[in-house]
Amino acid sequence: MKPIAEIIPLLRVPGKRIFITTHHKPDGDAIGSMLALYHYLVKKGHHVTPVAPSEVPSFLLWMPGVQQVLNYEADPLPPQAALREADLIFGLDFNDFGRVKLLTPYLTAATAPRILIDHHMYPAPVWDYGVSIPEKSSTCEMVYDFIRQSGDEDLIDKDIAACLYTGVMTDTGSFRFPATTPAVHEMAAGLMRHGLEAAPIHEAVFDSWSFNRMRFIGYMLIERMEVFPQWHAGLITVSRKDMQLFGLATGDTEGLVNYPLSITGIRFATLITERSDEVRLSFRSKGDFDVNAFAREYFSGGGHFNASGGRSSAGFSGTIARFKEILSDIHPR
Ligand code: 5GP
Ligand code: MN
Repeated sequence: MKPIAEIIPLLRVPGKRIFITTHHKPDGDAIGSMLALYHYLVKKGHHVTPVAPSEVPSFLLWMPGVQQVLNYEADPLPPQAALREADLIFGLDFNDFGRVKLLTPYLTAATAPRILIDHHMYPAPVWDYGVSIPEKSSTCEMVYDFIRQSGDEDLIDKDIAACLYTGVMTDTGSFRFPATTPAVHEMAAGLMRHGLEAAPIHEAVFDSWSFNRMRFIGYMLIERMEVFPQWHAGLITVSRKDMQLFGLATGDTEGLVNYPLSITGIRFATLITERSDEVRLSFRSKGDFDVNAFAREYFSGGGHFNASGGRSSAGFSGTIARFKEILSDIHPR
């Protein structure tokens, strides 16, 4: 992978056709980084197509430019055409082609240079150019760095600032995870100087729950959470039936995995979710328990040191049982 700096001169010549994508089930950092880069490249005079492999979750539908995002799952032909005709392809907030799901074969077969901007560990050796820094708080921080490295800080406006802030805010748990470096706070300050209004973004992202979702979380905490104090671990399990009972969509479990970590002594939290096609697992930790390694080793997944995900085909109750077996062997000390 060649350094991303080599892309900067190419972007000085306007009129490029640029395809941007991010991971399946996109989160605030995925959509935030994609839309920030979209607005920036449009300002530089390029023709830009942002594509999400699946739908944008409802808590992000307020974002500036979100109506430009194509949903590959809903309508695959326009994104396929854009990918074929692209001069440059950007991949944001993921690092191996498997994470774009149905788009994977098209991204693999594309002939245009593929450029990575991402902060997950172990990038697959499939990118032509890019930057991969696992220590970074968010892909949004890296897009901010890229815009400044290109000498274009002046192009950051209120919309770009809002997109970048959304990703850094969500990926740092509102500026509290250890990746929240001085540079992250300086970035937030910089975005404010470019017109950012932060309070409405917090409100749009975090205070937009339905009454049912709030009741669902209460139900989960009372009925579906187990703690294993001897192993410093907590587990929440969500069946399809529970989701149906409250009439919820997959995005409504967002953030649920974190709750056990608020209990004294708990340093490892897991959410097991029954989906129609597979069982999904989300892992979070505090301190030196490496959930990226855990997800890779036992649940065909990965992610970051303190936040990762994986999957299982052992069925819902089979996965829960298997997880507990593994937990009793491998757990934070
Ligand atoms: P979440 O639990 O929110 O789905 O995922 C937590 C973190 O792990 C996110 O940064 C996500 O990108 C990453 N992640 C989730 N599932 C996978 C996976 O299957 N493979 C890899 N490499 N990363 C994942
Ligand atoms: Mn991210």
